[in-house]
Amino acid sequence: MKKIILSVSVLIVSGLAANAQLFPRAKCTTLVGEAMFGERPDTVKSRGMADNYHTWEAGSELLVKFMPGGSKAVRDKVILNAKEWEKFANIRLKFVPDNAGFTHLRIKLGAGMGHNSAVGTEASFRQQTEQTINFDTLAFADGDYYLARVKKKGIQPPYTFDHLRKEMKEDPNHWNIPEIRRVVMHEFGHALGLLHEQSYPEAVNWKKTDSIYQYYYETQGWEKDQVDFNVFEVGSRFYTNGTKYDPKSIMHYSINAWETTNGYAVKNNFELSAGDKVLIAALYPKPNTSGVKVVPKVNISNFTKLDVSYDPVRGGLVIKPAFDLKTNSKLGEVYFVARIANAEGYYFKTASKYYNWGGALATYLKINLTPNSKVIYNKDTKGRMELFFPLNMYPELYGQKIRVAFAVYLDDVANNQMDKLMYFSATNPLSIPSKSF
Ligand SMILES: [Zn+2]
Repeated sequence: MKKIILSVSVLIVSGLAANAQLFPRAKCTTLVGEAMFGERPDTVKSRGMADNYHTWEAGSELLVKFMPGGSKAVRDKVILNAKEWEKFANIRLKFVPDNAGFTHLRIKLGAGMGHNSAVGTEASFRQQTEQTINFDTLAFADGDYYLARVKKKGIQPPYTFDHLRKEMKEDPNHWNIPEIRRVVMHEFGHALGLLHEQSYPEAVNWKKTDSIYQYYYETQGWEKDQVDFNVFEVGSRFYTNGTKYDPKSIMHYSINAWETTNGYAVKNNFELSAGDKVLIAALYPKPNTSGVKVVPKVNISNFTKLDVSYDPVRGGLVIKPAFDLKTNSKLGEVYFVARIANAEGYYFKTASKYYNWGGALATYLKINLTPNSKVIYNKDTKGRMELFFPLNMYPELYGQKIRVAFAVYLDDVANNQMDKLMYFSATNPLSIPSKSF
């Protein structure tokens, strides 16, 4: 039950822009998950080409908005290139105004944030106030153009991002169009559930030397564990969805020959490959398409609320999450788990035999998945489901502030993928009334 705490949901795009080598690379400021809950999505085991546990439901319309910032010129380019995926996937990206309430994906355009995205439905684990995709607009600039301006002024190297920023201010809107296209399609690939192609088993023989770690530290600002995770990690158990290793994939990092034991190198790809189109069509099949290999998967979607109430008669907490659970040809077992944490988000430890999930005070339900089914929980009179936590057995919790963390885990026995976190969210602190005896 032990989980590795990693800044997963955040896969960083690598590959320096052709122009960026002239300027120091913006440091990667990978968002770190809510580690206080001690258990965050762990996609390590499912690294590979696609994370089949976190794809959206085929046919979905995903609402997308921009967080404050970013010019219209850049926003328009992001929208145009993101929508390239719609041609091949049965999914719609609907860009809504900045002040829209609920959205599935939120884009932050900024300098120095790096490029990264939550993988697929892991975006649902984030707060509505938090972005799910970051684009570093400095890396979108036409570096050659601005460098020429700097040189023309007689400024001597080293050239820094401050030079670039100054020139962009004086003469805005010179963009590296192919680079924007490459990065936007890559990050939206993650947003649809795709993973890095170089993680394909035995595809790349990395030379794991100090010089590689040094290189990624200098160019990306990554510590050793981030290099291990972002670059080297290869899922030994994951889905390739029957596709072959595809060095032309938009999801492939660029690799220098000196980084590999056999001189293998990959250049940046600027377009979706044939393999990308096949894979995304299998994950999000369009209606009435024949001959497309449909991928078995389970979706959790439309999570609308996590309702927790105190029932004085039963002496406990009634926990009612509302969401949709859909499967296609998939078999497996899911666990709905509600763990009890203090106001700061730390789980209460327990040695209880019954109300225990991985050592944390919890209550849970096990459900067998029926293939090709859809259950809508707690939204109408049919799909009622509740988790009950007996406070009476833990009287020390009365009068305290607690948080309830709800998670869904999937055991996919057929594919030897156990304990996959499908969903996670937590309530704000709730006050438990004092018990009146
Ligand atoms: Zn990436």
